[in-house]
Amino acid sequence: MSPETLDSTALALLSLRCPRCHQGSLFSYSALNISKFALMPEKCPDCGQTFEPEPGFYFGSMYITFAFNVATVLVIGVLLYYLFNNPDTWVYVVVVTVVTLLSTPLILRYSRALMLYLFGGAQYNANWRTHRR
Ligand SMILES: [Zn+2]
Repeated sequence: MSPETLDSTALALLSLRCPRCHQGSLFSYSALNISKFALMPEKCPDCGQTFEPEPGFYFGSMYITFAFNVATVLVIGVLLYYLFNNPDTWVYVVVVTVVTLLSTPLILRYSRALMLYLFGGAQYNANWRTHRR
């Protein structure tokens, strides 16, 4: 069980909670767990909302992941160019590679969460205990 309910959908998304009850965690393990960071329970442990509305639902999150990664490359490129006075090309390659690898668990989790919040069909319901779907 999770601590307290978040009324804000944005905060629930940022803290990777269930889109319906804003309590249950979307992921079973920590983002630091290298082999299991992507594992999600089938349903919300608190309200029972399904986390996989249809088979292959999260294939679409690839596009969101791609957008996050492109944004990462652009931001790093601009920062290196202006803050470090346009270093050699290998510096760009090394920094982008390291940052992309390190941010993969976070980007994957937020891509899936965005996918579920945008297209999962679940609405926040503060009274989910008394109102069944
Ligand atoms: Zn829930």
